[in-house]
Amino acid sequence: MTPTFVVFFGPPGCGKGTQAKRAAAELGLVQVSTGELFRKHLSEKTPLGQQAQEYMSKGALVPDEITIGMVRERLSQPDVQTGAIFDGFPRTAAQAKALDDLLHELGGKLDLVVDFALPMTVSRQRLLGRQEGRADDRPEVIEKRLNDHAQVEASVMPYYRQRAGLIKSLDADRPIDAIYQDVRNLLKAALH
Ligand code: AMP
Repeated sequence: MTPTFVVFFGPPGCGKGTQAKRAAAELGLVQVSTGELFRKHLSEKTPLGQQAQEYMSKGALVPDEITIGMVRERLSQPDVQTGAIFDGFPRTAAQAKALDDLLHELGGKLDLVVDFALPMTVSRQRLLGRQEGRADDRPEVIEKRLNDHAQVEASVMPYYRQRAGLIKSLDADRPIDAIYQDVRNLLKAALH
């Protein structure tokens, strides 16, 4: 069976992490969240976590080499056989290209990009109200992450727009369950 690979794309606070977790559990895929992987490294005080911390605390992107290396390591684990949902990755053109290469090595390809559309004002409100206690959910860092998302979008989405039908957009300014119905339908149609 060929694995199914999906990217969840959207601004911080759009709910892609929550949706990825739920969809991965229901459909037997693994969730690969680079933000969560970095936070895990940080809490375990690994060398990679220490390297990443200086960037994360400022809301800056961790360099491609470190990020791609971490994803490569994650994808080498056996639970990825059925496929994965990437959330928070890729965020640069180099990461998008590297992801294609990594998936090719695994005998698969990117099957779907789910684009979570959310106005920046709503994104800001959600991040300011978030109670997860994340070190980067501070007002000044939030502003930077929101502004940087426009750059991330300009780096990544043109690369995927070249492939007809790859991107499916959904309205992320709705209740979690309503969004999940769309997510589930899109994923079910993409599963091999
Ligand atoms: P997130 O949980 O996706 O909002 O990510 C939290 C932080 O981790 C980001 O602000 C970055 O510092 C770092 N990070 C997560 N994913 C990436 C990525 N794909 N490339 C570079 N840095 C990342």
